[in-house]
Amino acid sequence: MNEYLLLTAGPTPISQKVKKTLNQSMAFHRSTEFIKTFLNLTENLKYLFQTKNDVLILTTSGTGAMEAAISNMFSPDDSILVVENGKFSERWSLIAESYKLHVNRLKIPWGKSVTIEQITQKLQSSPSFKGVFLTHCETSTGALTNIETIVPVIRKHSPALIIVDAISSAAVHSLKMDEWGIDVAITASQKGLGLPPGLSMAAVSSKAWTFADKAELPRFYLDFNRARHSLASGTGAAYTPAIPLILAADFVLREIKREGLENIWKKSQETAENFRQKIANLGLSIFPENPADSLTVIKTDHLSRCDQLPHLLKEQFKIIVSGGQALLANKVIRVGHMVNVDESDLDRFLEAFQATIMTSKHRPN
Ligand code: PMP
Repeated sequence: MNEYLLLTAGPTPISQKVKKTLNQSMAFHRSTEFIKTFLNLTENLKYLFQTKNDVLILTTSGTGAMEAAISNMFSPDDSILVVENGKFSERWSLIAESYKLHVNRLKIPWGKSVTIEQITQKLQSSPSFKGVFLTHCETSTGALTNIETIVPVIRKHSPALIIVDAISSAAVHSLKMDEWGIDVAITASQKGLGLPPGLSMAAVSSKAWTFADKAELPRFYLDFNRARHSLASGTGAAYTPAIPLILAADFVLREIKREGLENIWKKSQETAENFRQKIANLGLSIFPENPADSLTVIKTDHLSRCDQLPHLLKEQFKIIVSGGQALLANKVIRVGHMVNVDESDLDRFLEAFQATIMTSKHRPN
C-alpha cells in the first residue's frame, strides 16, 4: 500500500518484468543484436495492428504519430474530414490546421460516437475529402467508435485515406487494420502496451504509401519514407531511438503474442464490463453512450466537491485517477484499466470512491 495505485487513462502502470527490462545496460542501436530486436519488434507490431503493412516505430508520444500521419500524407490546401467527439479527436483538426489543410469537422456531441447515418450524410453532402480521421477510443469521454462498421461506409462514399487514432485502444480492443480497411493506424507506448511514454507506432497501408509519395507537407524527423528505407536497408531506426523503450516494447510484444490478442481483448472486456456493473450498483452513471473497455468515465457532476474528487482520492487513498478535460472539467472522473490493472485494484478504487462520495455528500461545497 506504499505505492500509489495508478488508474489514469494513460500512462498505465508498468509491470515488474518491464521495469527489469528497462533497467538493462545501455545497448548500441547500430549493433547487430539491437537491429535484430528492432526488426523483430517491427514484425510483432504487425500482429498488434493485425496487418501485413509496414509498421514504423517513432520516438515520440502519440501526438507525434498524429502529426506524422498528417505531414506524410497530405499537401497544403488538401481538404480533410475529422470526426470530432472529444478532446483528442479535436487534436487531429488542430494539427491539420497548423499545416494549412482545409479541415471539415463532423462534430458529434461529447460522449457519443459517430453513426453510419451521420458519416454517410456528411460524405454525400460535401466535396470529396483526401483524408478522413477517426478516433477509436476517445480518451476524453470514454466513447468507442465502431471502426469496423464506419470504415466500409467511408470506403463506399469516398476515395479518402482513412486514418485511425488507436492510441488508447490498441492491445485493449479488437483492432484489425487490414480486414477493416484502415490506411494509417497509430498507437503509443503508454496505454494498452503498459510501457512508459515515449514511443509511438504507425502502420501504413500500400494506398497510404502512394499518398506519401505525393505529399508535399514539410517533414524531416518523422518522415515515414526515411523510416521505411532504414528498415529495408537493415539499418534499423533512422535515428537514435529510445533504446530502453524498444527493448521493453520487444518484451511486451512477445508477451502479447504468447497470450494472444483475442484473449487480451476478451479479458479487457470482462474487466470493463464488471467494473461498469459495479459503478451502476453504486447508483452512478457512465458518461459515454458506447463505452470503450480502456477506461470508464463516470459522471460526477451531481456530487458535491466533484471538482476535488481526484485530489481527495490521491491524498486520502493514494489512488490516482484522471479528471475531466475541457467541457468535462469537474463533471466526470476517468478511471483507466487498459493493462496491469486487475479486479482487486478496481475494487480498491470502488471502496475509496464510495467513502469519498459519502463524505463529500455530507459536506458543503
Ligand atoms: N489520442 C488519444 C486517443 C489519446 O488518448 C492521447 C493521449 N491521452 C493522445 C491522442 C495524445 O497522445 P500523447 O499524449 O502520447 O501525445
